[in-house]
Amino acid sequence: MESTVPELPEVETVRKGLLTHAVGRTILQARQLHPRGLSPKSISGLSAIEGAKIIDVRRRGKFLWFVLDRPLVLAAHLGMSGQFLINPADLRHTRASFRIRKGLKTSELHFKDQRTFGWVSVEETRDGIPTCVQAIAPDIFESAYDQGAVIANIKRRKVSIKTAILNQNIVSGIGNIYADESLWLAKVHPEKIAENMNTKDISRVLESAKEVMLKAIEVGGTSFDELYINVNGESGYFDIALNAYGQEGKPCPRCGTLIRRIKFANRSSHFCPKCQRR
Ligand SMILES: [Zn+2]
Repeated sequence: MESTVPELPEVETVRKGLLTHAVGRTILQARQLHPRGLSPKSISGLSAIEGAKIIDVRRRGKFLWFVLDRPLVLAAHLGMSGQFLINPADLRHTRASFRIRKGLKTSELHFKDQRTFGWVSVEETRDGIPTCVQAIAPDIFESAYDQGAVIANIKRRKVSIKTAILNQNIVSGIGNIYADESLWLAKVHPEKIAENMNTKDISRVLESAKEVMLKAIEVGGTSFDELYINVNGESGYFDIALNAYGQEGKPCPRCGTLIRRIKFANRSSHFCPKCQRR
């Protein structure tokens, strides 16, 4: 299996964990422990959020942000391997640490990231959205998501449908795994050109994306550990049954034809050549 990165369901599960383990706490100390732990776009060092209380944790696509009781947020992106952990025994790969307290109970919240593509960042907001998220389109689960507008946007594109749904400026949160799974469920070939597709087929792709990600969120929600806010450790992904992604050479669960893998736009795409015709 090629390397996997957290997608919307994994990030949503992290957010839910943070709602339980971080919201309502005051940040006593915030420390950057690796040069790449803090985004170069951060408007200040982490000490700017010391003393702040965490009011909420929000998400758009794969971006998270901690809402504070001051006009700044702590934004975060898990990159390829980021995790938030409470009181970890193993301190390797910690890029930033936060001592948080509620009442008499003090905990250490660690941002760990082996591959260092993830980051945290102190940012301002506009209309409640951090600077780094301004250009990111709403994801399928947000009230701000407008499916009609997204379909119209996709229909204007001369790119493949897969490239379109991976574009975070059109709809956010869909990565390579859930894109392949959504296209398989919708019976749409990944290389179909977006502008040649009808509204009904594009709509089915988006509805399928919602369905597969919702299923993954449900799985993630049941696999919590007391200590681990995040469950995307070694394997990176929840234990969900994949129908297409990574299934090259295995029978399609719908028709038995062998799943194929093709490479375009620097990515692998997995699909059933019978169910998903060009
Ligand atoms: Zn099939």
